[in-house]
Amino acid sequence: FIIPDWFGFTKHIEDFYWKCKSNSEGKVASYIPQLARMNPDYWGVSVCTIDGQRFSIGDTSIPFTLQSCSKPLTYAIALDRLGQEVVHQYVGQEPSGRNFNELVLDYNKKPHNPMINAGAILVCSLLKSLIKPEMTLAEKFDFTVNYFKKLAGGENLGFNNAIFLSEREAADRNYALGFYMREHNCYPDKSNLKEILDFYFQCCSMEANCDTMAVVAATLANGGICPITEEKVLKPDSVRDVLSLMHSCGMYDYSGQFAFKVGIPAKSGVSGSLLVVIPNVMGICTWSPPLDPLGNSCRGVQFCQELVSEFNFHRYDNL
Ligand code: GLN
Repeated sequence: FIIPDWFGFTKHIEDFYWKCKSNSEGKVASYIPQLARMNPDYWGVSVCTIDGQRFSIGDTSIPFTLQSCSKPLTYAIALDRLGQEVVHQYVGQEPSGRNFNELVLDYNKKPHNPMINAGAILVCSLLKSLIKPEMTLAEKFDFTVNYFKKLAGGENLGFNNAIFLSEREAADRNYALGFYMREHNCYPDKSNLKEILDFYFQCCSMEANCDTMAVVAATLANGGICPITEEKVLKPDSVRDVLSLMHSCGMYDYSGQFAFKVGIPAKSGVSGSLLVVIPNVMGICTWSPPLDPLGNSCRGVQFCQELVSEFNFHRYDNL
């Protein structure tokens, strides 16, 4: 086993869980009513190792929408199908140094990276127009869900239509980003902006729980092979690129500090979820709705700090 003393390890995870539970900082996202109604006390942590050992504590079977945690997944599909060169003709690899939904492009008038809204909207346009462009909107939705499901080893993955409708309703900023990128010819030819944005909202509105998302994180930790089904879902090169940008850009405008203090690739979402990947060891998903001012889950960030204070998972531990 990759973690020989599993019981001893999970005992620590439990300790971190209870420590973070008493953290009452942060505010639940309020830009749509479905998220604003989320109970701030929800708190769950799930772990899945690359050899399939699993542990869960707390609210790990309650579904939440993936929101920005879908961004590394859509980026992974784009890389796997189109290759790094094509994808990065359209989107950069640089942290933006700004908020996740800031109306800003880089010096080449491309979105800074695929982990913020502009970049993820752009990646959605690549999935739509460059991969099997003959697919209908419905087929492209199924295609994407199936990918997410394969990453999750076939576990529960749904779609929250109320959130989708609300996202689309409260989308002025995302529309502004969409038009701004169209103004600068960011999209592949023949792209339809309304369809791209709908597709982006659909990806944000996919729904899963901590247990399922820990498997997704573990598939990334395992170089693209799902530890539960042993299916090869992504090429190792694609996963390498995804983890690189999760490391430098996955935590919005906290990414630099997170890389410094925690040193693990991670991606947060506005529903309070956090995907954490310890390469060649395990995937973790934490979920707690209250967010800090930059949009990261307060308990999730604290959990990661507790984790690396006990274990040498930081990229530059063991020197
Ligand atoms: N649906 C959110 C948005 O587009 C997702 C962003 C996030 O999770 N931070 O604004």
